[in-house]
Amino acid sequence: MSSIPAITGLDTDELETRFNQLGQPGYRAAQVLDWIYAKGAVDFESMTNLPASLRTELSSHFTISPLSPVDGTRSGDTTRKYLFKLNDGRYIETVLIPASPALYGERSDRYTLCVSSQVGCAYGCRFCASGLDGFARNLDAGEITAQVLAVSRLSGKKINNIVFMGMGEPLANLQNLLKAISIINAPWGIGIGARHMTVSTSGLAPQIRKFADHPLQVRLAVSLHGASDEVRETIMPVNKKHPIDELLDSLHYYKSKKKQKITFEYILIEDINDSSEQARLLASIASSLKAKVNLIPYNRVEGLPWKRPGEPVQEAFLKILTSRGIQATLRREKGHDIEAACGQLRLRKERGEKVP
Ligand code: SAH
Ligand code: SF4
Repeated sequence: MSSIPAITGLDTDELETRFNQLGQPGYRAAQVLDWIYAKGAVDFESMTNLPASLRTELSSHFTISPLSPVDGTRSGDTTRKYLFKLNDGRYIETVLIPASPALYGERSDRYTLCVSSQVGCAYGCRFCASGLDGFARNLDAGEITAQVLAVSRLSGKKINNIVFMGMGEPLANLQNLLKAISIINAPWGIGIGARHMTVSTSGLAPQIRKFADHPLQVRLAVSLHGASDEVRETIMPVNKKHPIDELLDSLHYYKSKKKQKITFEYILIEDINDSSEQARLLASIASSLKAKVNLIPYNRVEGLPWKRPGEPVQEAFLKILTSRGIQATLRREKGHDIEAACGQLRLRKERGEKVP
């Protein structure tokens, strides 16, 4: 991690305290935050209402940009992927996606940003590129919020929704995640409403309870991908630690605390989890929680044997859900978008392979 902390990980109170320690009046904090979040400043030099000596001093204590864009950023039919280098030389990905009607039912001129929470992932789901080289480290709050600032700046788009569905398991980095969420949410910060943020988890039941206790009404998505322990544990090792019953208990707890519907994500992988029996089990799980279901045809990952089932199987799976009254959607994108699942670009880069 960078030895110089990112100022984008501090809230107003913390910044005021730091300014007081530097012998500065507390109102400087509001000035600096205004430069960063309202005016989009990328260096302290441009903060012209601060004394020059203070600007120099701030540069020696903080960085504003703990990540820099590198080649490899690409656009597909629908998405735009950004590859960022962190100050310790590691890589993460952030993906800009036009409207996500499945999640929010919104107009198509809106943008969703898919944000990473860790470098790599320790949970080792068998189908996922993010976990292939294991876990490196947590992102700090400043590195999480900086992804939002950097993509707004680079794309020129206003970002309406945030999904923590990039690399990593957000609930395994709960403290930094909650800090980042509060900064992204704050009126002095990025100003995105809690209801426009979704945290996706592979099912860490104890952390789901802690997350439920947090006052902000952030949405929750759960990567289920298997509707029985037998199927789920073949592709998601986390299920051995927190089996489906324990996961569902924690989701009922979440539901008792929050107004938003839970979303189940369910990747369809041929001959693994796409049977009609799994669809029926999934329907009964979703119905007990009044949850929505997003079906996602699997995106191939180089080096892994899995693939998506044909369209008739996908449609049949969907029909079993909808005929049982479940609010379900099936992603029907054309072809496989630029390695659309997060983690794949970064994996190539870290392995020293060419990013095409
Ligand atoms: N660790 C969290 C959040 C990051 S993954 C989680 O697992 O929920 C975001 C989503 O992408 C998860 O639902 C994950 O299962 C899915 N995913 C991973 N690899 C994929 C692939 N190759 N094709 C389609 N979805 C994939
Ligand atoms: Fe980690 Fe989520 Fe990928 Fe599983 S699906 S390896 S939890 S990022």
